[in-house]
Parts: sequence; structure tokens; C-alpha cells
Amino acid sequence: MKKITVLGVTGSIGTQTIDVVKNHSDEFEIVAMSAGRNIQLLEEIMQSMNVKHICVQNKEDKEYLEGKYPDCQFYDGQDGLIAIATLTEVDIVLNAIVGFAGLLPTMEAIKAHKDIALANKETLVVAGHLIIPLVKEYGVALLPVDSEHSAIFQSMNGEHHGDIAKIILTASGGSFRDKSRDELKDVTVEQALKHPNWSMGAKITIDSATLFNKGLEVMEAKWLFDVDYDDIDVLIHPESIIHSMVEYQDTSVIAQLGTPDMRLPIQYALTYPYRQPLIGGKRLSLADIGSLHFYRPDFKRYHALELAYEAGRMGGSMPCVLNGANEQANALFLERKIHFLDIERLVEEAMRAHQFIAYPTLEQLLEIDQWARHFVLKRVGED
Ligand code: NAD
Ligand code: MG
Repeated sequence: MKKITVLGVTGSIGTQTIDVVKNHSDEFEIVAMSAGRNIQLLEEIMQSMNVKHICVQNKEDKEYLEGKYPDCQFYDGQDGLIAIATLTEVDIVLNAIVGFAGLLPTMEAIKAHKDIALANKETLVVAGHLIIPLVKEYGVALLPVDSEHSAIFQSMNGEHHGDIAKIILTASGGSFRDKSRDELKDVTVEQALKHPNWSMGAKITIDSATLFNKGLEVMEAKWLFDVDYDDIDVLIHPESIIHSMVEYQDTSVIAQLGTPDMRLPIQYALTYPYRQPLIGGKRLSLADIGSLHFYRPDFKRYHALELAYEAGRMGGSMPCVLNGANEQANALFLERKIHFLDIERLVEEAMRAHQFIAYPTLEQLLEIDQWARHFVLKRVGED
């Protein structure tokens, strides 16, 4: 029985993780879980399965739950996340928190010798230079949950790292892939939230529309698979059937395909190196699909992707600036306080204003993240 802590259980990845665990209850048990502020959904999840350790973001919510569920142990805030990610009985922590908030629990879980199933890409983007050495030092497994990275991971099974020529990350292109740059000027939040292929949390859906999501994934791939930025290509593939590919020295290209369903990469991260039936999963029929399409992303059209490559190549503190500014600008767009194209403009302005640090410590990253958010807020008169 694999014992799991799920961080961010009320989110899109979190609820799909519950589904996977319930479908394989003889293999997996959730012993601890966290939610942010969606207490109603958390309670529904609590009533549907017996989980002893529960963390919420706010103290008031914790006190309310303590009064109602005397058999459970409740935690709150960052310390609570760390506590449930490091419990002795836990084997693996599935981190499905959105954003920078996932960083400290991931690092502490690694130090407590827990394997990590990582959906929370922002933590690798910001602190890959700290996380990867920790993973090696503590000898834990770092298993990707992001569909593209799971595909790459699966396409590398049994291969030698030295034989890899290139990683090809596929991208759906997001909600606005058919719009010109000019048409992006006055797109709405509602339009941006309509992703053509995937149903996901709001932040990543907006990131998919700007292509910052793909930019974050390029950096995530660099850290997970130890490849140079020159050897990571992005390919727009509107159907989201090929989840990503790896090209080898001998020109062979190995890809992982499937109908778009996040439960597959979630489940594979939990069952690896084995596979299990995906209950309710839809089989791929290429005959029914007929044709697949691909094109190169234009950096002028997708400036966010260009910025992400720039930040990744610079390394050091720059990905943290890009990420923090993007998290803030993404939130402001969702609050309808800025326009869609302001997101990448504000991120770029933060990058230009930042005093670069080559090897930032954890403390410096926490400060830089705050600096980037405040910079964005100040630029739009919200601070
Ligand atoms: P979501 O917004 O649906 O859920 C986020 C979860 O984290 C919720 O449970 C929320 O309550 C919790 N949370 C949010 N802020 C928090 C904070 N400050 N402290 C503690 N908990 C907090 O997000 P999601 O779409 O499930 O995405 C989660 C992560 O997985 C992101 O990093 C995203 O990039 C990544 N990811 C998601 C998908 C997808 O299909 N949704 C695919 C690939 C990668
Ligand atoms: Mg992805």
C-alpha cells in the first residue's frame, strides 16, 4: 500500500488524484491532504474518504473544522503543509498546489526522504538549482505529473541520457491559438478561460493562453531531464494527442500518445515503474482522428515564450522574477484589472528592472518573488 500526501486536493489535479486513488484503493491510500480556501469541497472529499491529517490555508478554517471533525488532526498555513508533507508514514507527496507556495513543502518533503510526484511546476522553475541537488542528495524519486513531462519521461524509459538529441514539447496553443497578436488586445477573461482541450485550474488556463505555461514547462524540462535550452523545442500541436517527444542521436523520435486525460500522468507518477488500467479512460483511435497538425510557434506572436527562454537561459534569479511577476499579473487579469497583453508586458518590465543574482539562496528567492509581485502591483497602481 503506497501512502500518499496530496497537496492541493481541491484543485483540478487534486480532485483527479482522488479519482485515481479511489479507483485503485487496494494500491493507494491518502493519509494526508491540504486545501487552500475551498472548505466546502474539502468537506465533501473528507466525507467520501477517511483521511486523518488535513491542512488548510487559514487558522479560522482550521478551528471551524476542528470543532466539526474531532477524529481528524488539522494543520494550517505553510508550517502545516510542511508537517503533512513530512509525516513518517508517508511514502510519496503529490504536490498539486498552484504557484510558488508549493516550494517549501516540496523541499522539506525531499529532506524527509519522500518521493515527489510533481504537478506544481512553478517550484522547479524558480528553484530547480536547489531542488535537483536535494533530490540527488536524498536519493528520492522526482516524478513528473505535467502531461508533457510525463510523456518525455515515458519516452526515455530504458534509454541512455547521452543518446538524447532533443526534447520536443508539444503545446495546444491555448484558447487563443487562432487569434493574431492584434486580436489579443481586447480578449476577455471568459474567452481566455475556455481551453480547447483541457479543463484545468484558472491560473494554468490563463498561462496556456499567454503561453507562459509552455515557457514554464521548457524550464521544468530543463531541470527534470538535464538538457540545454538549445535542445528543447516547442511545437504547436492543436489536437493534444502527442503529449511530447524525444529525438535521439540516431534520428529516432519516440513519443507518448493518448487522449487528453490528466488522470493518466497522475496515475503513472503513482504506479511507476508499473502501469495499471485507467478506469474510465478513453482509448485512442487514430483512425477516428484521421489527421494531426503541427506548426512552429512564432516568438513574435508568442512573446511570453521568448521571455521564458530568455529567463531560463540567464538562469539564476531570472526565472523567479518571471514566475512571480507572471503569478501576480495572471491574478490581476483574472480580477479584470489589466488587459491580456499587459501580462507579458508587466513580466518583461519586471525582468528588465531586476538586479540579477547568479546563485540565489532560498531566502533570496523568497525576497525576489515578493519583489516581482510588488513591482507588478506598483506598475498598475495597486500597491
Ligand atoms: P487549481 O487552482 O485547480 O488547484 C490548486 C490547489 O492548490 C487547490 O487545492 C487550492 O486550494 C490550493 N492552493 C492554492 N493556493 C494555495 C496556497 N497559497 N497555499 C496552499 N494551497 C493553495 O490548480 P490546478 O490546475 O490543479 O494546478 C495545480 C498545479 O498543477 C499547478 O502548478 C499547475 O501548473 C499544475 N498542472 C495542472 C494541470 C491541470 O490539468 N490542471 C496540468 C499540468 C500541470
Ligand atoms: Mg502541461
